[in-house]
Amino acid sequence: MPEKNLDSLDKIVSLSKARGFIFQSSDIYGGLAAVYDYGPLGVELKRNIQANWWKSMTQHHDNIVGVDAAIFMHPKVWEASGHVEGFNDPMIDDKQSKKRYRADMLIEQHIQKLRDKGKDDEADHLQEQLDTTGTRKGLCEDLYDIIMQEEIKAPESGAFDWTEVRQFNLMFKTHYGATSSGDEDAIYLRPETAQGIFVNFKNVMDTARVQIPFGIAQVGKAFRNEVVARQFVFRMREFEQMEMQYFVEPGNDEESYDNWLNSRIEWHKNLGIREENLRTVPHPEDKLAHYARAAADIQFNFPIGWQEVEGVHNRTDFDLTRHQEYSGKKMEYYDQKQQKRYTPYVIETSIGLDRCTLMVLCDAYREEEVDGDTRTVLKLHPKLAPTKVGIFPLIKKPELQELAKKIEFELRDEYNVLYDESGSIGKRYRRQDEAGTPFCVTVDFDGLEDNTVTIRYRDNMEQDRVSVDKLADVIRDGMKTWKPE
Ligand code: ATP
Repeated sequence: MPEKNLDSLDKIVSLSKARGFIFQSSDIYGGLAAVYDYGPLGVELKRNIQANWWKSMTQHHDNIVGVDAAIFMHPKVWEASGHVEGFNDPMIDDKQSKKRYRADMLIEQHIQKLRDKGKDDEADHLQEQLDTTGTRKGLCEDLYDIIMQEEIKAPESGAFDWTEVRQFNLMFKTHYGATSSGDEDAIYLRPETAQGIFVNFKNVMDTARVQIPFGIAQVGKAFRNEVVARQFVFRMREFEQMEMQYFVEPGNDEESYDNWLNSRIEWHKNLGIREENLRTVPHPEDKLAHYARAAADIQFNFPIGWQEVEGVHNRTDFDLTRHQEYSGKKMEYYDQKQQKRYTPYVIETSIGLDRCTLMVLCDAYREEEVDGDTRTVLKLHPKLAPTKVGIFPLIKKPELQELAKKIEFELRDEYNVLYDESGSIGKRYRRQDEAGTPFCVTVDFDGLEDNTVTIRYRDNMEQDRVSVDKLADVIRDGMKTWKPE
């Protein structure tokens, strides 16, 4: 059967809307840029991914516990973390169109254009200049100089009429309490969930009786006032993160970092993501964040190119030391066995739940030629599929409806199932193919005689006749033995 993988993000955007996975937020008012809502199928898919992550962290490790910290945090947290001072992007405005751009990205696009024209030497030279920005006059000034020197034009208006480059903080600011107004009591929406873990390090240590090495896991919303916020749920202004901070003795950090990087790649494969669509890209030493000793991206081959889905970082003792400094509270660990005190190092695994959901959708999407027609199918891992079983009476006849309803009732407790009696069987199968439903069960008149039904498999469209009594076992077996094609 000729098969085609996903070749454009637009196809996922349309399928998501048409089938109820993901909608633009506030759609009836024209939408809100870079904010999205999950529909009936999307919320199931996202929650299945989240539950899988949570289980793989907490239930599968006897030394990882969870927390659920609030979105609002004391403003000092963001001073200590470095976000107030350093969570900035260098931006430049086109005076004519009033559009704002990331200065470094404009230069990167320009470099790509030079390469496309075969001007590799020029591109290499410019890349070198870009890589060393901040070492001449300052970050903003150096970027501005490159844009002037190369006469880079605004992508949309084509104008060469720029403001200066300015740093733009990505945190959303709001006011806390009814009487607050000024900047003194400004509070931020958290730009990452990690800090909610660090500030609870002592609370967890004192109450959960954990010993190093141990981890704290958390899933929650994060907010970033991203300037370049396109590409669907890949880059949003409100999104969800799944983060785990693993506290280790300094000296054991490198080994732990390697272990976590490997185990996180395995997790992605276990979601059913095809191996050839995954890769690990270590950050070169000179590109590491100031607090990091090692970092790598786990990337997926999206239709928009290879992009980060997850980051694994060795954050050293940076965060705990900073919180100790800013809060005045000790953030050390006393090792009873070795009778020594130290500030633990932290290995972080940080993945965006929305970006991960997008990866799962993109990897599962296929178009197949079937009898001169195109079948769109999501070959999702059955454990992630929003609906596990579609149950159809062949036609709307009470005897068939009765048996189909009975099967629905029996399976409902174990699986998310869907009863559907509208349209032809072929149409009902195709609807479930697009929803990623791995099994469909059709009740016909023969089945009333011998208590059997037809089970149809989403991936190869093969059909088997099984006894109603064995149906749950067959589905359970199919869930367990599924492999990505
Ligand atoms: P990128 O530069 O690719 O946006 P980042 O390096 O800023 O990512 P981190 O701060 O390490 O990302 O955040 C960890 C994870 O959170 C990312 O790997 C990504 O999956 C997710 N993430 C970060 N920003 C966004 C966003 N604006 N929208 C959706 N997911 C995001």
